[in-house]
Amino acid sequence: MTAKRPTAAVIGSGFGGLALAVRLQAAGVETTLVEQRDRPGGRAYVYEDEGFTFDAGPTIITAPHCLEELFEAGGRSMADYVELLPVTPFYRLYWEDGYRFDYSNDLELLDEQIARRSPRDVDGYHRFLRYTEDVFREGYEKLAHVPFLDFWSMIRVAPQLVKLKAYRSVYDVVASFVKDPHLRQVFSFHSLLVGGNPFSSSSIYTLIHQLERKWGVFFARGGTGAMVRALVRLFQDLGGTLRLDCPVEEILTRSGRVVGLAGGDGWSAEFDAVASNADVVHTYRELLRNEPAAAGTASRLLGRRYSMSLFVIYFGTRRRHPQLAHHDILFGPRYRELLDDIFEGPGLADDFSLYLHAPTLTDTSVAPEGCEAFYVLSPVPHLGKARIDWEVEGPRYRDRILDYLEGRYIPNLREDLVTTRILTPLDFQQVLNSHHGSAFSLEPILTQSAFFRVHNRDDRIGGLYFAGAGTHPGAGVPGVVNSAKATAGLILSDLGLVRSA
Ligand SMILES: Cc1cc2nc3c(=O)[nH]c(=O)nc-3n(C[C@H](O)[C@H](O)[C@H](O)COP(=O)(O)OP(=O)(O)OC[C@H]3O[C@@H](n4cnc5c(N)ncnc54)[C@H](O)[C@@H]3O)c2cc1C
Repeated sequence: MTAKRPTAAVIGSGFGGLALAVRLQAAGVETTLVEQRDRPGGRAYVYEDEGFTFDAGPTIITAPHCLEELFEAGGRSMADYVELLPVTPFYRLYWEDGYRFDYSNDLELLDEQIARRSPRDVDGYHRFLRYTEDVFREGYEKLAHVPFLDFWSMIRVAPQLVKLKAYRSVYDVVASFVKDPHLRQVFSFHSLLVGGNPFSSSSIYTLIHQLERKWGVFFARGGTGAMVRALVRLFQDLGGTLRLDCPVEEILTRSGRVVGLAGGDGWSAEFDAVASNADVVHTYRELLRNEPAAAGTASRLLGRRYSMSLFVIYFGTRRRHPQLAHHDILFGPRYRELLDDIFEGPGLADDFSLYLHAPTLTDTSVAPEGCEAFYVLSPVPHLGKARIDWEVEGPRYRDRILDYLEGRYIPNLREDLVTTRILTPLDFQQVLNSHHGSAFSLEPILTQSAFFRVHNRDDRIGGLYFAGAGTHPGAGVPGVVNSAKATAGLILSDLGLVRSA
């Protein structure tokens, strides 16, 4: 007679949930992935309108090896499931005064552009690069996939954090190396990609600069949705079970230990371990409402700071726009002041800075022939910072942004539009159960990082784990996939399938 295999459930099929489910299933745990929506992917959902394929969320794939590792864990090769296409330049940045900067990892091209704009900053940029190499080594290579479960784990890394000046902000550190205001924006905007204000996020997040430099920026052929489908196929090829359209309503506990899940349509099942990839406030406040040991964390989480939200317009045009790059950052007239308005509210600013995504420039398969697929994203305050009636303001804000794009970047936009749809902070709150409609969960500031983030394993409730943006190391595809690695290690060790480190 063979021994019964251990079982686990993962709530939510975002990149963190998928990565964890793959790792557990690959290691011999019978894993069920439970998703409330009709499709997997979470923030990486896909909309299909009028022949266009729109990735709802992540579009920039960095650190591809952390995805490759998942296929290797299952004894497969990523190339058999999905193709990654390199994107160059990584970003084209535009200012309203007409200045442009093509950002990539081509050092010669970067130096040339910096020298043309501000010759004295070439040397400063090189010193900044050396600084980010150190941060990358300490912050990413050593710590991104390691769980911080006790205060001592934080104390152990404190000397490195002090040495790297982690107490300073991304912008402060960039400004100490580079003097030109536009170039300071070029090298500091990256923390926004994981929900951090460059003026308050820890300088540790400058490691994103090095992450892109080292491995490049990629786009999955067919869109990020193709990467989600590849991971789902991998999980199912390994024998994992995916339950879609199944909202989890409660994490069931007995004597302070997780025993199973209860979900939509009367479904319930017992599991040896349960990991939540859902929003951390939703998990502690709603799904664990009957577990007394969850109450303290639930109320502490309400007092934390959350990342901004996003307003996104997905649109397609009947004409191509080769004058653009795949990833365009369109800076408005203000930087620090606009970021203050976005992170603190109390309303919607009159100006905006936008990220314009034009994937057809890399892969024409995401739009009908001769057409261009786009999304444009504007960071906006989350629902706890600004009282905005998005039902009313959404269509108005959409029109303001489309007019701005037509006036400056996409001629004839209105006439050429084939389709549009919008995503507002209300969607993050109502469709994804995201606290305050935040797009990236807990804000990545030093006092909410590593040990100070939600732990990958709960301290008090046995058998309860987390993977995703709210836990260590944080948001972004590499962040949540690394969180899954840390969490998988804990679960496998607790289930006795690997020896603990
Ligand atoms: C518009 C946008 C653009 C972005 N661009 C990039 C980018 O280019 N590159 C990058 O690296 N990162 C990007 N990010 C960040 C990145 O997408 C996220 O940090 C990451 O995908 C979050 O993954 P996650 O594992 O935390 O899960 P999520 O994607 O948040 O998924 C959580 C899942 O849990 C499900 N769920 C919630 N409650 C329940 C319940 N009760 N029962 C069952 N299921 C439930 C949800 O439906 C959802 O599917 C972007 C984010 C957004 C919003």
